Amino acid sequence: LSIYLGLERKKRGWMDLVVADIVSDTPDTKTLIFKDPADGHSPIDYIAGQYLTFRFDEIADKPVVRSYTMSSSPRNRDALWVTVKIVPKGLVSTYLCEQVKVGDVLRARGPIGRFCYDWEQDPPHLFMVAGGSGVTPFLSIIDEYWDRLGQKTAPASLNLLVSQRSREDLIGKDLLAKAAKIPGIKIWTTLTREKADGYLSGHIEEATLSQFFAGHIEDGVFMTCGPDAIMAKTVAYLQGQGVAPERIKQESFFS
Ligand SMILES: Cc1cc2nc3c(=O)[nH]c(=O)nc-3n(C[C@H](O)[C@H](O)[C@H](O)COP(=O)(O)OP(=O)(O)OC[C@H]3O[C@@H](n4cnc5c(N)ncnc54)[C@H](O)[C@@H]3O)c2cc1C
Repeated sequence: LSIYLGLERKKRGWMDLVVADIVSDTPDTKTLIFKDPADGHSPIDYIAGQYLTFRFDEIADKPVVRSYTMSSSPRNRDALWVTVKIVPKGLVSTYLCEQVKVGDVLRARGPIGRFCYDWEQDPPHLFMVAGGSGVTPFLSIIDEYWDRLGQKTAPASLNLLVSQRSREDLIGKDLLAKAAKIPGIKIWTTLTREKADGYLSGHIEEATLSQFFAGHIEDGVFMTCGPDAIMAKTVAYLQGQGVAPERIKQESFFS
């Protein structure tokens, strides 16, 4: 029955993913929307926060591999999304954002990773701190849980503190704007290169972290992903507050 319902789509080894659509989120990101070429649905089951490793055989002298996190919710049975931000002079990110077109078939394997909310182990309040493309796992997590907060298999609250350069760089803007209106979801965005109403300004510092986590140091689980400086500051702050290592989860996008 579960196979009939499509709940056990697991693949071993390298799989083909067809690019069904490409959406421009911001001036330097693209969301690639993938389907299984065999049946036109999402190729695999995964847990929000996991990633795929892609392999490219023909864009350099030798094969190159890079990892990209799903930005879609696993509940999306139609397609799997990854959101890629161009790294200046970056080989694969530039290729994905500027060369890949609808209909292309890419090779990937996964899902991989444990950067996920674990409802059996983790405390109820989920706090996420991100910068730049590091917001992608949190888009997946927010889209996965936003309408079932407090249920057994979901966090009681979702809290995201995200840093981007300016309003035009807001990856996942529509989802985050929708989520911010829901009780139990808190989204704080700080802009580092402009000041605007409704946004914090400047880099994520200890004072912001302290306000953001207020009241939940004891019953929170903390995830951080993004530039090393943001991750390091977040982890140092939490460690300074005595948060146990198993309540602090990190994903570095620099492999
Ligand atoms: C588990 C995991 C998940 C990831 N998920 C995503 C995702 O969802 N979206 C996304 O856009 N990226 C993600 N990344 C980063 C991605 O895998 C690549 O590292 C990134 O796209 C750069 O690859 P490139 O070939 O373009 O750059 P390269 O040609 O490898 O590097 C070019 C230059 O950029 C620097 N650089 C490399 N990686 C980064 C980076 N991440 N940020 C800033 N500078 C960098 C290098 O030091 C080098 O100087 C993830 C990485 C990991 C390990």
